[in-house]
Amino acid sequence: MPVYDYRCNACGRRSALTFKTISAYDAARRAGTLACPHCASGDLTRLISRVAIAKPSKNYAAMGSNEMLNVLEGGDSREVGEMFQQVGGDEALSDPQMAQVTERLLRGDSPERIEADIGGSTDADA
Ligand SMILES: [Zn+2]
Repeated sequence: MPVYDYRCNACGRRSALTFKTISAYDAARRAGTLACPHCASGDLTRLISRVAIAKPSKNYAAMGSNEMLNVLEGGDSREVGEMFQQVGGDEALSDPQMAQVTERLLRGDSPERIEADIGGSTDADA
């Protein structure tokens, strides 16, 4: 079943909308019946899929540290995750915690929330 990620422009929440078939999605989109499950607003922005992330438009590995800092401070989780994945490569992703962070960023989780979760579990284990 096709799943499409949306960000609601009314309440700012992200939702994954699932459709039985691609033509069901097309029909809903044409009919304008796509709606936010949280607030029922139809003002939705389709988010970039994982497939698109696999072919990044930016070459983060070639970035200077100031540019990387800009990406981090920009707060776009997916962009940060993409950067980690590119810059860190297999080495960073072999670290389970780093892999988890990158995976969550790519899903669009907020860096603050991830940091809180990771920080909490590290303290508990210590
Ligand atoms: Zn909403």
